[in-house]
Amino acid sequence: MIKSNNSYSELPEAFFKEIMPSSAISPELLAFNSQLAKELQLDLEKSTPSELAKLFSGLDLFPNSKPIALAYAGHQFGNFVPQLGDGRAVLLGEVISIEGERFDIQLKGSGQTPFSRRGDGRSSLGPVIREYIVSEAMNALGVPTTRALAAVTTGEMVFREEELPGGIFTRVASSHLRIGTFQYFAARQDITNLKILADYAIERHYPDSTYLSFFEKVCHNQARLIAHWMSIGFIHGVMNTDNMSISGETIDYGPCAFMDIFKADQVYSFIDRQGRYAYNNQIQIAQWNLTRLAECLIPLIDDDSQEAIKKLEAVLATLPTIFENEWLKKMRLKLGLLDEMEEDGPLIVDFLNDLQVRGQDFTNSFRNLSSQLEQKDAFPILMRWRERVRSQSLSTQEIIDHLDATNPANIPRNHLIEKAIQLGLTGDYTLFNRLNEVYQSPFTIQSGCEDLQKPPEVHEIIQNTFCGT
Ligand code: AMP
Ligand code: MG
Repeated sequence: MIKSNNSYSELPEAFFKEIMPSSAISPELLAFNSQLAKELQLDLEKSTPSELAKLFSGLDLFPNSKPIALAYAGHQFGNFVPQLGDGRAVLLGEVISIEGERFDIQLKGSGQTPFSRRGDGRSSLGPVIREYIVSEAMNALGVPTTRALAAVTTGEMVFREEELPGGIFTRVASSHLRIGTFQYFAARQDITNLKILADYAIERHYPDSTYLSFFEKVCHNQARLIAHWMSIGFIHGVMNTDNMSISGETIDYGPCAFMDIFKADQVYSFIDRQGRYAYNNQIQIAQWNLTRLAECLIPLIDDDSQEAIKKLEAVLATLPTIFENEWLKKMRLKLGLLDEMEEDGPLIVDFLNDLQVRGQDFTNSFRNLSSQLEQKDAFPILMRWRERVRSQSLSTQEIIDHLDATNPANIPRNHLIEKAIQLGLTGDYTLFNRLNEVYQSPFTIQSGCEDLQKPPEVHEIIQNTFCGT
């Protein structure tokens, strides 16, 4: 049961539109995250699969639920769109977890809303399966992320390039506030609502902050998040400002992918023709997005806009160093370096270059480091690494334990997700379920899962990923 006061729907009218999810014909439950439901105190232990399917397709509503579609704007691939909004998503309401934290529960793919523009408001099954697997894997990897609560098939077909079975994904987020939400009001010069939004965001995520320190904290969380992505070879694929959460969670798993062979400028998203959101461009893009947020905040920071700009620019000037430091922190840990030395930056860069030149798998190369620690013969870069990692006052076992707890053995590889989707389209969810199970313990070598650790064979490599919208 939703035990909350649905704080977002109490904000002024301009923030959302009330909308009922359109009813699915014959929803069937594909997956239900009962552990998460418990943490959210949803009280669904006794619900049958068919009751859950009704709930997570919008056929039945939670008590106290007041469904709304949220308004937001955003820069899509650098172009500003003043009105985007939830075009295929409906916020059912908010819940308070056992820990006392507030979360949004949202259906994705439940039909048209006033923000749908030309879209059908629906989702095909593929993106539902992808988001379920990847968001739960990210959580198990320790990356701040929205969560997967449930997935259903709708019993209807949706029309994309081809006819595909429809699905609905239930997303849990610590909020759906995005940079694009700020842009929505800033673009309309609606300072009253901009201030209400900022006050709301501060109260919900960064209590007791001033507007300026709120901005600083959002920057810090973004820097930590992007560094985390980079450290596991994750490419978000569509870092538009409407897909950048104010809380610092990963949000909107569209054409995302984990890299197999390391390539610094890797792009998977089919629509990202310029490589704007390439692996190694993510730090720059996050800073570009934060600069857009800074622009929105000008009227709140100081009555004198020149003064406000000066203050915001001072923060923006620190971003390259903040991002670099967060990246260094994460990458040091991957190499088993718990102390800091000047030479670490160049060592990390050379290590990655070496992976690229030799066409090595990103995940497995780091995972294998623990077994390379005591080997003698090796490449120059490994010798250099060994010398550095050994310079610490740690035992071999301590280093090995640390490396294995930092470098995952199992990440959701693209070709496996694709296989799970293709099987799912035929009604076979065994691989989908198996992947969800394995990715809950990404740092553990699991017997019988050797096949999942292998990079794709040449014929299995996925060149492009799609939003599926
Ligand atoms: P995304 O690329 O998923 O972040 O979506 C960008 C915008 O397109 C958002 O405003 C979405 O609500 C909207 N959108 C995406 N897919 C659909 C769809 N099938 N129907 C309506 N709106 C959509
Ligand atoms: Mg989006």
